[in-house]
Amino acid sequence: MIKILHMYADMLDLYGDSGNMEILRYRCKMRGIDCEVDTYSIDAEMPDFTSYDLIYIGGGADLEQQHISADLMKCREGIKNAYDEGVFLLLICGGYQLMGKYYRDADGNEIKGLGLFDYYTVAPQSRRKRCIGNIVIQTEKTGAPVKVVGFENHGGQTSGVKTPFGKVLYGNGNCSKSENEGYCEDNVIATYLHGPLLAKNPEISDDILLYCMQRAIYKSGSDEAYELPPLDDTLENECRSVMLERLLK
Ligand code: GLN
Repeated sequence: MIKILHMYADMLDLYGDSGNMEILRYRCKMRGIDCEVDTYSIDAEMPDFTSYDLIYIGGGADLEQQHISADLMKCREGIKNAYDEGVFLLLICGGYQLMGKYYRDADGNEIKGLGLFDYYTVAPQSRRKRCIGNIVIQTEKTGAPVKVVGFENHGGQTSGVKTPFGKVLYGNGNCSKSENEGYCEDNVIATYLHGPLLAKNPEISDDILLYCMQRAIYKSGSDEAYELPPLDDTLENECRSVMLERLLK
C-alpha cells in the first residue's frame, strides 16, 4: 500500500502536473499495489504528513504561489517532520521553488519559502525572459545514468543548489542555459520538469515507487528485499527515443 498526499491540487496544476499522480496510480495498479491519493488544500484540516509515503506539490503561476504561501507555511512543521522521517517529496516548478528560501517575482515581491533546502529563486524583471520548452537532462538518481525528457516553463532562476537532479543536455534547467536542473536527495526530487515527467520517464516513476515500497516494508519491521515487478515500457521508451533523437542530434 502506498499513501500519497497531493497538496494544492486545485491551485498548483500546470501543464498536466496532476498527470504525475495518474502515472503513479497506474503503475501501482498494474502491479497489484494499493495506492491511495489524498488531497490537501487551503484551510483543510491539517493532515498527519508523516503518515504518507509521498508528498506531491505541483507548479503554479506567481499568483497561485502567493495564494497558497501562508497556508503552506502553516504546514511547514508537518512537512519538515515527514521529510526528516524519510517521506518522499516530489516537487514540481512552483512547488520546487517554495521549498527553498524564497521566490522573488518579477515585481520584486518575495514569497517566503519553507526553507527546507538552501536554494533560492529570483525571476528576472522582464516577464518575457522565461525558460520555456522541451528539456532533456541526465540524472544518476536511479543509480544509473538516465536521460529524462520533459517540459519546462518558468521565469524563476534558482541558485544555490548543491545536489541537482541532473545535468542539462538540452534546454535551460535551474537558470537560463544552466548546467544543472532541479534538486535531489535520497527522498527528494524537485524539478522544473512538469506533469509529463513520470509519464515520459518510467525509470523515475519506478525509482520513487521502489523507494516508497522499500521504506514501507522496512517500517513494518521486515528486512525483506523488495523488487518492483517490471512493466512493459516499450511504448514509453519509444516515445522518449523520438524526443531524444529530435532534441539531441
Ligand atoms: N511562477 C514560477 C515561475 O514562473 C513558477 C512557474 C511554474 O510553476 N511553472 O518561475
